[in-house]
Amino acid sequence: MRKTNQLYSRRKFLKQTCSTAIGLGFLTWTDWFGTHSASPISLEHNELNYNKKRPRGTGFVFEKQYLSHTICEGHPESPQRLRSVLRRMQSIGLDQEVRHIGASDHALSAIEAIHSKSHIKRVEQEATDAYICYLAVAGALSAIDFVCTGKVRNAFCALRPPGHHARNSGEFGFCFFNNVAIAARYAQKKYRIKKVLIVDWDYHHGNGTEWAFYDDPSVLFFSTHRLKAFPQTGFPEHEGKGKGYGYNINVPLPSQADDRIILNAFETQLLPAAERFEPELVLISAGFDSRKDDLLGDFSVTDDGFAKLTDLVMSVAKTHAGSRLISFLEGGYNPNGLALAVEAHLKRLLRV
Ligand SMILES: [Zn+2]
Repeated sequence: MRKTNQLYSRRKFLKQTCSTAIGLGFLTWTDWFGTHSASPISLEHNELNYNKKRPRGTGFVFEKQYLSHTICEGHPESPQRLRSVLRRMQSIGLDQEVRHIGASDHALSAIEAIHSKSHIKRVEQEATDAYICYLAVAGALSAIDFVCTGKVRNAFCALRPPGHHARNSGEFGFCFFNNVAIAARYAQKKYRIKKVLIVDWDYHHGNGTEWAFYDDPSVLFFSTHRLKAFPQTGFPEHEGKGKGYGYNINVPLPSQADDRIILNAFETQLLPAAERFEPELVLISAGFDSRKDDLLGDFSVTDDGFAKLTDLVMSVAKTHAGSRLISFLEGGYNPNGLALAVEAHLKRLLRV
């Protein structure tokens, strides 16, 4: 009965959220109930729009419920992170430059393509606000829909909780559902995208994303991170297995790694690999705890460094993926620093 109630509340909640977004005029009825059906992912009528006019603009995925998610009092993965980002965007008018996108209403079937039923059950038990975990995934899926149907050229998902540590073992590293992995698989199924590149510049290794695609040659995973930090995975010799061998690239960086070091890793290891892989869609696990002055990291990447990293990944997307690029917020635990890094990242995404 409790489970039935949870499911009912979740669906009711998502439906209400959709209605609110429509009421605010962000989206059309077709946006929500045409492309965003609650039925299982369909392969029909969902070809990429290769031949249409070049998409323009940058989507910004956000739901106000992302500000309500808490793990516990005083936890660094706090609502203050996103509040700071939004305040900064408003203060410089950046919120007027992006196209606001709300969450879709069909997260569950996409989640089941990555996570086991027992993991989903654990999330519902462990998270004090599991519906926000669903809503984060739903936001990620909306971004895929908007980018893959050419409504926007690229998008940034300002969502919480983050996802790149999530496997099938319940909450791990502040993550519940692996937003970026779920989004990648969803894009492959719904839009027949064969090859997805996932770039992870978070200070911590994206162990959950590595796990999701370790034997899968259709997803190239590239991660820079501090090997000695949580979760102490991401060894360079872990290159994938079976048909996925060679499609998992781990580049540990030293303590105090700065712009020069991380940019060098991207230029010498990501760019040639991406050139060979030729991705049709590019996703970023955009963790800004690799920024200088972060509470949980000890790298020294500057906001200008994040702008340059964004340029590099955009160049890959432009060359191979029709500029289709979506970034998902992961870490970043100095709220003021996070806001400045997101600003630098967004300004580059907005550049034509
Ligand atoms: Zn992190």
